[in-house]
Amino acid sequence: MAGQVAGRYDVVVVGGGAAGFSAALTLVRARRSVAVVDAGEPRNAPADGVHGLLGLDGIRPDELLSRGRAEVIGYGGEVHDGEVVDVSRESDGFSVTLRDGAVVHTRRLLIATGLVDELPPIPGVRKQWGRGVLHCPYCHGWEVRDRRIGVVGADPMAVHKAIMFRQWSSDVVFFDHGDDVEPQDRVKLDALGISIVSGGIATLETAGDQLTGVRLDDGRLVAIDALVVSTRMVARTEVFAGLGIEPTIHPAGAFIETDPFGATSVPGVWAAGNSSDISAQVSNAAADGARAAQHINTDLIMKDLERAVASLSDREGEF
Ligand SMILES: Cc1cc2nc3c(=O)[nH]c(=O)nc-3n(C[C@H](O)[C@H](O)[C@H](O)COP(=O)(O)OP(=O)(O)OC[C@H]3O[C@@H](n4cnc5c(N)ncnc54)[C@H](O)[C@@H]3O)c2cc1C
Repeated sequence: MAGQVAGRYDVVVVGGGAAGFSAALTLVRARRSVAVVDAGEPRNAPADGVHGLLGLDGIRPDELLSRGRAEVIGYGGEVHDGEVVDVSRESDGFSVTLRDGAVVHTRRLLIATGLVDELPPIPGVRKQWGRGVLHCPYCHGWEVRDRRIGVVGADPMAVHKAIMFRQWSSDVVFFDHGDDVEPQDRVKLDALGISIVSGGIATLETAGDQLTGVRLDDGRLVAIDALVVSTRMVARTEVFAGLGIEPTIHPAGAFIETDPFGATSVPGVWAAGNSSDISAQVSNAAADGARAAQHINTDLIMKDLERAVASLSDREGEF
């Protein structure tokens, strides 16, 4: 469903990825009025398939989300294609403004906006991202098993990534990208038969859409089938700053801190998926969304109970 959104909801979910739709599904099944607002840029969009997802291994990312969307709509939930640009507090909840000017009101807010992968500034990396250029062994390791895998250094996580990917292939090469490799790391790489290629990377070489190699600054070409990079994973939080949502900065990125049930430090606001856990895969993000939804629903039940008890006491006081 695209276009006009207006009204008052129990919960507005910002972001329609695995976390957001999973939360919305739990909430609509709890008979809550729910609107999901989604800008349509899930993190894994460049990938061919979602791997490691029980029962659905390899499903296309867009197919998974369109199934989730249909399930939410099937129970009466609303899904709106659009971008939330502002959120402000009201006496009994929040007012949520979309880029098209629409304003909706909600008692509770769930942030499920995911994160942005900041890629290393190497020419060709962005174009191959999610296909020839990879970051996560559990997402893509099987697909590149026994292939020639390069790992880009000059990052605190790089040696760790090389060691990890060695589990999937014996043909791993480490590009130091002009940076020093610590002696203790050299020992580890050497022990696993991972050779170190010294020198800065100039660009990636491709044949058609296929990654074929890494061209170094000095002109050398190293043939590889896949290149592993580290990304800085930064949760999308800017639009919630006015509510007091401040991302916690971590060497690997930035995320929203929550309690174990997804509640943020701001009353009435929950966060789930990559926005609060930068390491979450699709299954974790969906689980996070469902858990946060259960706690949001309980919170609303308790709030309404509190009001019912107060109004009963008021009425009894009248006699
Ligand atoms: C290349 C790649 C491949 C991957 N492969 C796998 C894999 O095989 N298996 C696996 O388990 N995981 C994989 N992942 C990880 C997976 O992408 C994440 O676990 C998952 O996307 C997290 O879900 P999420 O709902 O938190 O965020 P997302 O899926 O990123 O969804 C967030 C949604 O919120 C929307 N949004 C953001 N801001 C706003 C706003 N202001 N208003 C409205 N909407 C907004 C975005 O447009 C987006 O649609 C991969 C990641 C990458 C980068």
